[in-house]
Amino acid sequence: MNRTAEVVICGAGITGIAAAHFLSKAGMQNILLVDERPPLSLTSDKSTECYRNWWPDAEMLALMNYSIDLMEALADESGNSFHMNRRGYLYVASSEEKVTALKADSLRTSSLGAGELRVHISEDSSYTSAQPEGFRDSPDGADILIGNELIRKHFPYLTEKAVAALHVRRAGWLSAQQLGMYLLETGRMHGVRFESARLSSVDVANGRVRGVKFSSGERIDSPIFINAAGPFLKAVGGLLDVDLPVHTELHLKAAIKDSLHVVGREAPLLIWNETQELLWEAEEREALVEDESTRWLTEPFPSGVHTRPEGAGEDILMLWEYQTKLLEPNDRPPMDDQYPEIALRGLAAMLPRMKEYFARMPRPQLDGGYYTKTRENHPLVGPMCVDGAYVIGAVSGYGIMSACGTGELLARHITGAPLPFYAPAFDLRRYDDPEYRRKLENWGDSGQL
Ligand SMILES: Cc1cc2nc3c(=O)[nH]c(=O)nc-3n(C[C@H](O)[C@H](O)[C@H](O)COP(=O)(O)OP(=O)(O)OC[C@H]3O[C@@H](n4cnc5c(N)ncnc54)[C@H](O)[C@@H]3O)c2cc1C
Repeated sequence: MNRTAEVVICGAGITGIAAAHFLSKAGMQNILLVDERPPLSLTSDKSTECYRNWWPDAEMLALMNYSIDLMEALADESGNSFHMNRRGYLYVASSEEKVTALKADSLRTSSLGAGELRVHISEDSSYTSAQPEGFRDSPDGADILIGNELIRKHFPYLTEKAVAALHVRRAGWLSAQQLGMYLLETGRMHGVRFESARLSSVDVANGRVRGVKFSSGERIDSPIFINAAGPFLKAVGGLLDVDLPVHTELHLKAAIKDSLHVVGREAPLLIWNETQELLWEAEEREALVEDESTRWLTEPFPSGVHTRPEGAGEDILMLWEYQTKLLEPNDRPPMDDQYPEIALRGLAAMLPRMKEYFARMPRPQLDGGYYTKTRENHPLVGPMCVDGAYVIGAVSGYGIMSACGTGELLARHITGAPLPFYAPAFDLRRYDDPEYRRKLENWGDSGQL
C-alpha cells in the first residue's frame, strides 16, 4: 500500500516551509514537505535577510505590507526568536538628477500605501533615528533627508558628496534561518512532516494530480501537489508538462570583517543610488585599460551597491549586481573571486573610508545563489494548469520578506478562502491574457536591488 498525504510540497526552502505552515494553520493535517537537501540550505540561507514594504507597484506593495504584518505577529508570538529589526533601508544620492527622481518616485510609492513621506531640510527637523533592535514603536513610511550636513549628522560615515537620503522605515532585517525554522517547527506541531527525498515524477490521471514518486521508487498518494522548488521551479513544472515562464540569475554576496569600523554598527541597509566608476590609482587604471580583459573595470558601473552590518561582531555584508548573469541553476552556483574587491571599491563611493582597505583587503567570505524570476519580477502563486497542482516561487531577491505573504496566499487558493485584490497579479493564468503579455514587453522598474 502506498503512503498518503493530503498535500505534498516539493522544496523545503522558505517558500515551501511557509506554504506548509499556513496550510497547517488553515486546518490541513497531513502535509508532506519533501526536499533532497536539508531545509533552507540551497538559496534561503544565502540571502541578505532584508525586508521592506517599499515597492513600485500596488500589488507587490500590498503583498509585502501583509507579509510584514504576518512576520511581526510571528515575532510577537515567538518573543522575536528571529531577531526582526526595523533599521530601514537608506538610499543615498549625490546628484540633483537622482534627488529629483528619488522625490518623485517616493511620493508615488507613498501614495500606493507604503506610508507617509516626510521631507526634512534642517537640523531641527522631526526626523527620528531607527532603534537598532526590535520593530515596535517605529515610524512607517519614509523620511527624505536633504543636505549633507543633516545626512551626516545622523550617518557620519557617509560621503560628503551625499545630498539626499531616503530612509524607508518599514524595513530592516532578520534571521531567515530562524524565521524558517520557527515556521517549520510550529507547522510540525500541526501536521507538517519533513522527509528527505528527491521528487522524480508527479502522477496525473484524467487531468488530476494523484500522487508523486521519489527517486527511491516510493510513491505517495496525494490529491494536491505544490511546486516550491526554488531555482528548479521550471524543471519540476516540466514534470507536469507545464512550461513555467521563469529564468534564473546568479547573485553573490560577500562578507568581510570591518575592523576599521567604516560602517556604523547601528546603520540601516545602506544603498548607493548613483552610477559610478571604480577608484583606481593612475598606474592601476592605465594597466587595466591596456588589457582588453580588464578594461571593463575602468568603465561605468551601475547604481545599487549596498552593505549592512551583520551580527554582534565586526562583520559587514557587501552586495552589488554589476553584471546580470543569466544561468541555468545547478547544485554549486559558480563564484567570482573578483566580486568582493569590486563590491568594496564600489562602496567607497558612499563610504570613503573603505579606501583604507584597498591596499589590504580583509579576507572575504563569498557565497550566493539564484534569483528565480519572471519577466516582470512578480512571483508565481496559485494553480498550475493541472487540477490539484499549485506553484509558489519565482520570488527573485525578495523570497524571505514575501514568504509569509505568499505562503498564506497559496493556502487561500488551496482551501478556497477569499483572495486579496493582488492575487490575480501573481497567478500563472495572468499570462493567458494577450493584453497582459503586451504590457510585459514594456514593464517598468521592478524595484529589485
Ligand atoms: C545573494 C542573495 C541575496 C538575497 N537577499 C534577499 C533579501 O535580502 N531579502 C529577501 O527577501 N530575499 C533575498 N534573497 C532571495 C531569497 O533568498 C530567495 O528568494 C528565497 O530563498 C527562495 O526560496 P525558495 O524556497 O523559493 O527556494 P530555495 O531556498 O532554493 O528552496 C528550494 C528547495 O527545493 C528543493 N528541490 C528542488 N527540486 C527538488 C526535487 N526534485 N526534489 C526534492 N527537492 C527539490 C531544493 O533542494 C531546495 O531546498 C536573496 C538571494 C540571494 C541569492
